[in-house]
Amino acid sequence: MLTDIYSPVQQLRHSSRKNIWVKRDDLIDPYISGNKWRKLKYILEEAKNLNKDHLVTFGGAYSNHLVATAATCARHGLKSTAFVRGEAVENEMLLLCRLYGMRLIFSTRDDYKEKDVLFSTHFANDAHALFVDEGGAGIHAVIGCAEIIEELPADIDHLFCAAGTGTTAAGLLKGILESGSKTILHVVPVLKDGADFITAAIINYTGSTAQLIVHEDYHFGGYAKTKPELISFMKRFIAEEGMLIDPVYTAKMFFAIDDLLGKQYFKATDKIAAVHTGGLLGIWGMKEKFRPDD
Ligand SMILES: *Cc1c(COP(=O)(O)O)cnc(C)c1O
Repeated sequence: MLTDIYSPVQQLRHSSRKNIWVKRDDLIDPYISGNKWRKLKYILEEAKNLNKDHLVTFGGAYSNHLVATAATCARHGLKSTAFVRGEAVENEMLLLCRLYGMRLIFSTRDDYKEKDVLFSTHFANDAHALFVDEGGAGIHAVIGCAEIIEELPADIDHLFCAAGTGTTAAGLLKGILESGSKTILHVVPVLKDGADFITAAIINYTGSTAQLIVHEDYHFGGYAKTKPELISFMKRFIAEEGMLIDPVYTAKMFFAIDDLLGKQYFKATDKIAAVHTGGLLGIWGMKEKFRPDD
């Protein structure tokens, strides 16, 4: 099983960020990254309980979840298959998936929309195949992400996370509400117009929006979109903190925190924390944004 992790809570270094603590889930594993590890923890347990030895999942060609699933399966003696959205391509992420023994099936964008159909067309007769939704989304993922709260100090006033589907955020809010702490969860959607469905996903899993704030203005144009301002922030942050962040998720979250700090959003005594959800391989999908002359 996935246990015994290294994920310390570290204080940021720069003088402007002294009140900020980071839960270093990125250090759990370089390939089973951050929240994808949290999500897979109970999916793996479910697979063992159901006697399934083959995880079948879904993602884009730069999906952190695909690499995480491939690595997890290889380490636990399971088979893995992924339906990859779009035309056949090769890149660093898919190379890792293949090295870990994952079978990749490229699927047109139309086919990809019907995940259940894809699964049953290929695996209806494989009693040992387990359907794992895109990004690992589902109740097992929520339960795994809720455990992050138990590993944090109880006196945090504001906890930040980046959100794609909102599953991780739902887990964090579940953990906060169950712990009875006063922590407010601040969610930074990384997609355009993501606030509504991310809020809906959180309500779906927790039944509540108490202690939740969604910050809609830090998506930088949409999923995997960047602006020069975000890239220069990222370079500065990494050099100042000695901590890698990725352009798709965590850079948008840390930008939001810096921006809110600059707007005096917090009280001087507030204790702020952020979950570093990993995803650092995402840098390789945007190499061209980091040319020296930029
Ligand atoms: C997948 C991912 C997320 C998004 O998680 P959701 O649960 O889908 O909201 C956030 N950060 C990183 C680094 C990720 O890889």
